[in-house]
Amino acid sequence: MNVLFVGAHPDDIELWAGGTAALYAAGGHTVYFCVATNGNVGSTELPPDQIASLRLDEARRAAGVIGAHLIWLNFDDEFLLDSRESRTAFINAFRQAKPEVVFCHYRQDYNPDHSISGMLVDECVQLCGVPNIKTEHPPFHHTPHVYFMDTPAGIGFEPEIYVDITSTFATKIELVRAHASQNSWMKHVFGYELEAFLEIPARFRGLQAGCRFAEAFRPSYRWGRTFQQHYLPNMLSVKAREQVS
Ligand SMILES: [Zn+2]
Repeated sequence: MNVLFVGAHPDDIELWAGGTAALYAAGGHTVYFCVATNGNVGSTELPPDQIASLRLDEARRAAGVIGAHLIWLNFDDEFLLDSRESRTAFINAFRQAKPEVVFCHYRQDYNPDHSISGMLVDECVQLCGVPNIKTEHPPFHHTPHVYFMDTPAGIGFEPEIYVDITSTFATKIELVRAHASQNSWMKHVFGYELEAFLEIPARFRGLQAGCRFAEAFRPSYRWGRTFQQHYLPNMLSVKAREQVS
Protein backbone atom coordinates (compact mmCIF):
# COMPACT_ATOMS: atom_id res chain seq x y z
CA MET A 1 0.00 0.00 0.00
CA ASN A 2 0.96 3.65 -0.21
CA VAL A 3 1.85 5.48 2.98
CA LEU A 4 2.21 9.25 3.18
CA PHE A 5 4.11 11.13 5.86
CA VAL A 6 3.50 14.88 6.03
CA GLY A 7 5.95 17.08 7.92
CA ALA A 8 5.89 20.84 8.34
CA HIS A 9 9.66 21.18 7.92
CA PRO A 10 12.44 19.16 6.36
CA ASP A 11 13.55 16.72 9.16
CA ASP A 12 10.18 16.53 11.04
CA ILE A 13 9.09 13.22 9.49
CA GLU A 14 12.48 11.69 10.17
CA LEU A 15 12.51 12.86 13.81
CA TRP A 16 9.06 11.63 14.80
CA ALA A 17 8.26 8.82 12.39
CA GLY A 18 11.51 7.90 10.63
CA GLY A 19 11.71 4.46 12.24
CA THR A 20 8.12 3.67 11.28
CA ALA A 21 8.65 4.92 7.73
CA ALA A 22 11.70 2.67 7.47
CA LEU A 23 9.60 -0.30 8.63
CA TYR A 24 7.00 0.39 5.94
CA ALA A 25 9.72 0.69 3.29
CA ALA A 26 11.36 -2.54 4.45
CA GLY A 27 7.97 -4.22 4.23
CA GLY A 28 7.70 -3.36 0.55
CA HIS A 29 5.22 -0.51 0.90
CA THR A 30 5.49 2.67 -1.16
CA VAL A 31 6.44 5.58 1.09
CA TYR A 32 5.96 9.28 0.35
CA PHE A 33 7.51 12.12 2.35
CA CYS A 34 5.61 15.38 1.87
CA VAL A 35 7.34 18.47 3.30
CA ALA A 36 5.09 21.52 3.60
CA THR A 37 7.64 24.30 4.04
CA ASN A 38 11.09 24.81 2.59
CA GLY A 39 12.86 25.47 5.89
CA ASN A 40 14.06 28.87 4.74
CA VAL A 41 14.45 30.37 8.22
CA GLY A 42 16.34 27.41 9.68
CA SER A 43 19.79 28.94 9.81
CA THR A 44 21.69 31.58 11.75
CA GLU A 45 24.27 31.90 8.96
CA LEU A 46 22.71 31.39 5.54
CA PRO A 47 20.10 33.64 3.88
CA PRO A 48 16.64 32.17 3.14
CA ASP A 49 17.23 31.06 -0.45
CA GLN A 50 20.52 29.32 0.35
CA ILE A 51 19.28 27.46 3.43
CA ALA A 52 16.11 26.43 1.55
CA SER A 53 18.20 25.03 -1.30
CA LEU A 54 20.44 23.16 1.14
CA ARG A 55 17.46 21.76 2.99
CA LEU A 56 15.90 20.49 -0.23
CA ASP A 57 19.15 18.64 -0.93
CA GLU A 58 19.11 17.22 2.60
CA ALA A 59 15.46 16.15 2.30
CA ARG A 60 16.20 14.39 -1.00
CA ARG A 61 19.13 12.59 0.58
CA ALA A 62 17.03 11.50 3.56
CA ALA A 63 14.16 10.24 1.42
CA GLY A 64 16.69 8.36 -0.68
CA VAL A 65 17.90 6.41 2.37
CA ILE A 66 14.67 4.39 2.38
CA GLY A 67 13.60 4.97 -1.23
CA ALA A 68 10.77 7.33 -0.29
CA HIS A 69 9.26 9.68 -2.87
CA LEU A 70 9.65 13.34 -1.90
CA ILE A 71 6.83 15.86 -2.37
CA TRP A 72 8.10 19.40 -1.69
CA LEU A 73 5.32 21.98 -1.24
CA ASN A 74 7.71 24.94 -0.81
CA PHE A 75 5.68 27.15 1.53
CA ASP A 76 7.67 29.69 3.54
CA ASP A 77 9.00 28.36 6.83
CA GLU A 78 6.97 29.51 9.88
CA PHE A 79 4.28 31.06 7.65
CA LEU A 80 2.19 28.07 6.65
CA LEU A 81 -1.41 29.30 6.76
CA ASP A 82 -4.80 27.68 6.34
CA SER A 83 -5.67 29.14 2.96
CA ARG A 84 -7.13 28.13 -0.37
CA GLU A 85 -3.58 27.79 -1.70
CA SER A 86 -2.40 25.52 1.13
CA ARG A 87 -5.54 23.36 1.10
CA THR A 88 -5.24 22.89 -2.67
CA ALA A 89 -1.56 21.97 -2.35
CA PHE A 90 -2.28 19.43 0.39
CA ILE A 91 -5.18 17.86 -1.53
CA ASN A 92 -2.98 17.63 -4.62
CA ALA A 93 -0.24 15.94 -2.57
CA PHE A 94 -2.74 13.40 -1.23
CA ARG A 95 -3.94 12.72 -4.77
CA GLN A 96 -0.37 12.28 -5.97
CA ALA A 97 0.48 9.77 -3.22
CA LYS A 98 -2.91 7.98 -3.08
CA PRO A 99 -2.21 6.77 0.45
CA GLU A 100 -4.13 4.28 2.59
CA VAL A 101 -2.51 5.81 5.66
CA VAL A 102 -1.29 9.35 6.36
CA PHE A 103 0.91 10.47 9.25
CA CYS A 104 1.01 14.12 10.27
CA HIS A 105 1.76 16.45 13.18
CA TYR A 106 -0.46 16.53 16.23
CA ARG A 107 -2.90 19.42 16.08
CA GLN A 108 -1.82 20.73 19.48
CA ASP A 109 1.89 20.74 18.63
CA TYR A 110 3.97 23.70 19.90
CA ASN A 111 4.92 25.06 16.49
CA PRO A 112 2.42 26.87 14.23
CA ASP A 113 3.61 25.15 11.04
CA HIS A 114 3.29 21.80 12.83
CA SER A 115 -0.21 22.37 14.20
CA ILE A 116 -1.52 23.97 10.98
CA SER A 117 -0.14 21.21 8.77
CA GLY A 118 -1.70 18.64 11.13
CA MET A 119 -5.02 20.42 10.83
CA LEU A 120 -4.72 20.66 7.03
CA VAL A 121 -4.08 16.92 6.77
CA ASP A 122 -6.75 15.91 9.24
CA GLU A 123 -9.46 18.05 7.68
CA CYS A 124 -8.55 17.89 3.99
CA VAL A 125 -7.98 14.16 3.39
CA GLN A 126 -11.70 13.62 2.91
CA LEU A 127 -11.68 16.18 0.10
CA CYS A 128 -9.48 13.96 -2.10
CA GLY A 129 -12.52 12.48 -3.81
CA VAL A 130 -14.43 15.68 -4.48
CA PRO A 131 -14.32 16.00 -8.30
CA ASN A 132 -15.21 19.67 -8.39
CA ILE A 133 -12.07 20.48 -6.42
CA LYS A 134 -9.63 20.62 -9.29
CA THR A 135 -5.93 19.94 -8.77
CA GLU A 136 -3.09 18.77 -10.98
CA HIS A 137 -3.64 15.15 -9.91
CA PRO A 138 -7.09 13.57 -10.29
CA PRO A 139 -9.39 12.63 -7.37
CA PHE A 140 -9.41 9.20 -5.73
CA HIS A 141 -12.25 7.73 -3.81
CA HIS A 142 -11.23 6.42 -0.43
CA THR A 143 -10.52 8.35 2.74
CA PRO A 144 -7.06 7.63 4.13
CA HIS A 145 -6.57 6.80 7.79
CA VAL A 146 -4.77 9.53 9.70
CA TYR A 147 -2.31 9.10 12.56
CA PHE A 148 -0.77 11.94 14.53
CA MET A 149 2.96 11.82 15.23
CA ASP A 150 4.48 12.50 18.64
CA THR A 151 5.24 16.08 19.66
CA PRO A 152 8.75 17.48 20.26
CA ALA A 153 9.90 16.04 23.62
CA GLY A 154 6.48 14.37 23.88
CA ILE A 155 4.95 17.41 25.56
CA GLY A 156 1.14 17.27 25.76
CA PHE A 157 0.99 14.01 23.78
CA GLU A 158 -0.61 10.90 25.29
CA PRO A 159 0.22 8.01 22.92
CA GLU A 160 -2.36 5.40 21.99
CA ILE A 161 -0.08 3.40 19.72
CA TYR A 162 3.59 2.53 19.96
CA VAL A 163 5.65 1.18 17.11
CA ASP A 164 8.75 -0.83 18.05
CA ILE A 165 11.49 0.75 15.94
CA THR A 166 14.41 -1.10 17.50
CA SER A 167 15.16 -2.85 14.19
CA THR A 168 15.14 0.42 12.22
CA PHE A 169 16.65 2.75 14.82
CA ALA A 170 19.99 2.86 12.98
CA THR A 171 18.14 3.84 9.81
CA LYS A 172 16.27 6.55 11.72
CA ILE A 173 19.62 8.00 12.80
CA GLU A 174 20.80 7.90 9.19
CA LEU A 175 17.62 9.69 8.05
CA VAL A 176 18.09 12.44 10.62
CA ARG A 177 21.83 12.77 9.94
CA ALA A 178 20.96 13.69 6.36
CA HIS A 179 19.70 17.00 7.80
CA ALA A 180 23.17 18.08 8.88
CA SER A 181 22.37 21.81 8.63
CA GLN A 182 19.93 21.45 11.50
CA ASN A 183 22.45 20.25 14.07
CA SER A 184 23.77 23.74 14.74
CA TRP A 185 20.29 25.24 14.43
CA MET A 186 18.79 22.86 17.00
CA LYS A 187 21.69 23.50 19.34
CA HIS A 188 21.24 27.23 18.88
CA VAL A 189 17.46 27.17 19.50
CA PHE A 190 16.96 24.27 21.91
CA GLY A 191 20.39 23.37 23.25
CA TYR A 192 20.28 19.84 21.82
CA GLU A 193 21.79 18.35 18.70
CA LEU A 194 19.52 16.35 16.45
CA GLU A 195 20.73 12.93 17.54
CA ALA A 196 19.99 13.61 21.20
CA PHE A 197 16.69 15.13 20.20
CA LEU A 198 15.69 11.87 18.50
CA GLU A 199 17.32 9.38 20.85
CA ILE A 200 15.92 10.56 24.20
CA PRO A 201 12.23 10.38 23.12
CA ALA A 202 12.81 7.06 21.29
CA ARG A 203 14.23 5.56 24.48
CA PHE A 204 11.47 7.03 26.63
CA ARG A 205 8.68 5.84 24.32
CA GLY A 206 10.46 2.46 24.26
CA LEU A 207 10.46 2.42 28.06
CA GLN A 208 6.72 3.07 28.05
CA ALA A 209 6.06 0.43 25.42
CA GLY A 210 8.35 -2.30 26.75
CA CYS A 211 10.94 -2.32 24.00
CA ARG A 212 14.27 -0.63 23.37
CA PHE A 213 13.22 2.14 20.97
CA ALA A 214 9.70 3.21 19.99
CA GLU A 215 7.76 5.91 18.19
CA ALA A 216 4.37 7.02 19.48
CA PHE A 217 1.18 7.88 17.63
CA ARG A 218 -2.50 8.67 18.05
CA PRO A 219 -5.18 7.85 15.49
CA SER A 220 -7.51 10.58 14.32
CA TYR A 221 -11.09 9.57 15.07
CA ARG A 222 -13.35 11.29 12.61
CA TRP A 223 -16.54 10.37 10.89
CA GLY A 224 -15.93 8.33 7.76
CA ARG A 225 -12.76 6.65 8.99
CA THR A 226 -12.50 3.34 10.78
CA PHE A 227 -9.62 2.43 13.02
CA GLN A 228 -7.80 -0.61 11.72
CA GLN A 229 -4.91 -1.97 13.69
CA HIS A 230 -3.18 -3.73 10.81
CA TYR A 231 -2.20 -0.47 9.18
CA LEU A 232 0.84 -0.02 11.42
CA PRO A 233 3.82 -2.37 11.39
CA ASN A 234 5.34 -3.61 14.68
CA MET A 235 2.52 -2.05 16.65
CA LEU A 236 2.90 -2.83 20.32
CA SER A 237 -0.05 -1.54 22.24
CA VAL A 238 -3.28 0.17 21.60
CA LYS A 239 -5.25 2.12 24.14
CA ALA A 240 -8.14 2.78 21.88
CA ARG A 241 -11.52 1.71 20.77
CA GLU A 242 -12.05 -1.76 19.28
CA GLN A 243 -11.53 -2.18 15.58
CA VAL A 244 -14.66 -1.28 13.65
CA SER A 245 -15.22 -3.02 10.37
ZN1 LIG B 1 9.35 21.23 12.48
